[in-house]
Amino acid sequence: MRVLWKLRKYLQKYWPQVTLALLTLLGITAVQLVLPNIIRQVIDIGLGQGKARYLLVSAAVILGLGVVQAGLTFIRQYTSEWISHHVAYDVRNHLYNHIQHLSFSYHDHTQSGQLISRCIEDVRSIQQFTGSGVVELLHMSILAISIITILLIENTQLAAIALLPIIPLFFATIRFGQKVSPMFYRVDYTLGELSTRLQENVIGAQVVRAFAREPYEIKRFDTANRELYDARITVIREWSRVMPTTALLITLSTILIIWFGGQSVLHGDMTLGEVVAFNSYMLLLAQPVQQLAWLVNSAGEAAAGTKRIWELLNVKPDIQSPPDSIALPELSGYVEFHNVSFKYLNEEKYALRDINLKVEPKQIIALIGPTGSGKTTLVNLIPRFYDCHQGSVRIDGRNVREVDLVSLRKQIGIVLQTSLLFSATIKENIAYGRPEADEKDIIAAATAAEAHEFITSFSNGYDTIVGERGITLSGGQRQRVAIARALLMDPRILILDDATSSVDTETEYQIQQALVHLMEGRTTFVIAQRLSTVKRADLIIVMDEGRIIERGTHDVLLRQDGLYRQIYDLQLRDQEKVQVEREALRT
Ligand code: ADP
Ligand code: MG
Repeated sequence: MRVLWKLRKYLQKYWPQVTLALLTLLGITAVQLVLPNIIRQVIDIGLGQGKARYLLVSAAVILGLGVVQAGLTFIRQYTSEWISHHVAYDVRNHLYNHIQHLSFSYHDHTQSGQLISRCIEDVRSIQQFTGSGVVELLHMSILAISIITILLIENTQLAAIALLPIIPLFFATIRFGQKVSPMFYRVDYTLGELSTRLQENVIGAQVVRAFAREPYEIKRFDTANRELYDARITVIREWSRVMPTTALLITLSTILIIWFGGQSVLHGDMTLGEVVAFNSYMLLLAQPVQQLAWLVNSAGEAAAGTKRIWELLNVKPDIQSPPDSIALPELSGYVEFHNVSFKYLNEEKYALRDINLKVEPKQIIALIGPTGSGKTTLVNLIPRFYDCHQGSVRIDGRNVREVDLVSLRKQIGIVLQTSLLFSATIKENIAYGRPEADEKDIIAAATAAEAHEFITSFSNGYDTIVGERGITLSGGQRQRVAIARALLMDPRILILDDATSSVDTETEYQIQQALVHLMEGRTTFVIAQRLSTVKRADLIIVMDEGRIIERGTHDVLLRQDGLYRQIYDLQLRDQEKVQVEREALRT
């Protein structure tokens, strides 16, 4: 429960509203406490002494108090909900900001569903608790303490007897709370699992259909869903056990009051009004006691949510700009790898070993090698998506760890094999890295990327909305929009994960032209699959098992008769034939 205390910093900001909620709370409690006393006087004076006028006045007073209570309740309800939704809003934003700064290696080890459920479900539980929860808890505590005090003053003996059943109830509720909080943690976790399944499945819908794996996916979802159901049911079972016990024990209290209080009236020790008022107070006390279980429940849920949210907030982004780092000036484009070794978190094997590489501005470096040889890993170190364990990566002579991250990444353009576009207009997608770019620049970038033509063929042109993840565009078109996006950034360093995407030769030719435009005048690292790109490179790096095993130009490497030669014979040579044929067709 102590975790809930962490939430205070979100509440502090809204102290005027919190104060207002507390004041109305005190008002409501006062009214509630006065009412049984009025009823006592109605019975003892109005009825007992036969004063009809007294009844009339009392009725008016009760009516007035009722109206006041209604007004206060409205204010309290509105303010507490207002506070809770503002807190939820702040927590959500805080979380989202935090997630934006987490590094690749964090995302490698985290299910996206868990992140999503933290932002939605866990925040909801906090919202529920900070709203009705906290206010009710305070309300009920004040009410309970006041009532018990009043009862003890009125008639200590009767109070002691009537309160007897409340004691076990109190402990049962506390125990319930201790039991239920870890259960909620499990509920939230399984909910995260469920979101992950759902999300993967929606994104991977095509793969699932293509492999006819629907029954398998349905079963997998069912497993996660059942776990959620089981987790919830265990909570509800506990909850259902507490509720009837509460009701029963309260009835027991009333019976004790009627029995012992009734005898006191018969013996003339108490008036009828006093006993009725006593019982009214007791019933009033039933409310906080019954609510206690609900509150503990809600607090447990909020505690679990807070714990999960804090776990996330406590993850320090391991890749950050160092304090008072310098912003990189416009780069020339020197890149140097100096004795770089790297392995992924929790992996045994080094993904890169002793990489030494010096690249001059505007050179084109082609990386080639079997799958898993470390090409992607190598280029990922340049924008500092990961930090190397040994050695250093230097850009224009500066260690990437020492410079401001934003100024570094803004000058590195990246085009990946499968380009993710956002669900927005084509224009917005192209301008993603430079939202302030004007129309002219966007069109120029699209033209250089050989995309202008197909974009203007759409009826909405640049304002065409690209479906979620750009699904309405063909692979080749998407690729060219991504190239335009990188072009618009005018980066000094470029990273291309060049695809052997299954596009027709005409599209392939266009993509290639677009890439040629893109590479002009920039230091380019290209993970090459196309012979034409490889041939154009100033330096070819051949990688195997995380090491650079050969380096040189096309002709030199061919003569060496090593791994490059093998790759050339197996994959690249055929392209040459196609290319020759295509050239022949064109002329
Ligand atoms: P390539 O791009 O040459 O196909 P990668 O650089 O992607 O190779 O991978 C190099 C090695 O690192 C492989 O053994 C791969 O399994 C491993 N690897 C790649 N990405 C990750 C990751 N995010 N976490 C753990 N291991 C990874
Ligand atoms: Mg790769």
